Amino acid sequence: MTPRAGQLVVISGPSGSGKTSLIDRLRSHPRVRVSISVTTRPRRGDEVDGVNYHFVDRERFLAMKAEGRFIETNDVFSDGHLYGSLWSDLDEALSDPDCVYIMEVDVTGAENLARTEGLAPRFLFIQPPSMEILEQRLRKRQTDDEEAIARRLGRASAEIAQAHAAGAEMIVNDSLDKATERLAALLGLNGGDGRPAGSPDATRTDVT
Ligand code: 5GP
Repeated sequence: MTPRAGQLVVISGPSGSGKTSLIDRLRSHPRVRVSISVTTRPRRGDEVDGVNYHFVDRERFLAMKAEGRFIETNDVFSDGHLYGSLWSDLDEALSDPDCVYIMEVDVTGAENLARTEGLAPRFLFIQPPSMEILEQRLRKRQTDDEEAIARRLGRASAEIAQAHAAGAEMIVNDSLDKATERLAALLGLNGGDGRPAGSPDATRTDVT
C-alpha cells in the first residue's frame, strides 16, 4: 500500500459555526483537497452529485459498507440518513506528501477517525463566538423553524463539550477573514504575503 504521507485534518463544528464557508475559502489552495462523503440523505436544490456528496440510496450505502469501503459511518442527525467517508479518496490524496486532506465530519465521526489505526488525524473544531451569536446566525439564514433552531442550539452545546473532551484544537469563528487566516496558518497554508491562497476570490459569506 502507498504510504499516507500527506496531512490529514478533520474539521467539525456546529451548524451555524461557519465551517463550510471556512473550508470553501481553503478549497482552491493547490495543496488542499476536501473529501467528498457518501450520503443517503436527499440532494438539496443547488447540490451536485459527486461535488457536494456522492448521493446513494440506503441499499447501495449498506452494500458499500459491507464491502469495507468506509473509514467511518454515522447516522449524524439520528434521522436514519447515513453519512460515510471513503478509504479510496483518502488513500489517493494522502499518497501525495504535500496534500492537506480535509474531512468535514461530525464530532462522533472525528472521534472514530482519531481511533482508526494508522490515521492520526489533526482534529480542529470551529466554534461560534457565543451561543447568542450562533442563534442569530441560525435565525438569519431562515432555513429552520423554531423547533429546529432549538434542536440545533442544544446539539451545538453538546458538540462543543464533546470536542473539548476529545482534545480538539478550537478555532473561534468571530470573523470569516480572521478565522480563515488562523486556520490556514495552523495548517501551514499561508503564502508569503500571509494570505491563504484562494481568499481573494472567495465570495461565499453564508454560514453552515
Ligand atoms: P448536511 O447538512 O450536509 O446534511 O449534514 C452535514 C453534517 O454531516 C455535518 O455535521 C457534517 O460534518 C456531517 N458529515 C458529512 N459527511 C460525513 C461523514 O462522512 N461522516 C460523518 N461522521 N459525518 C459527516
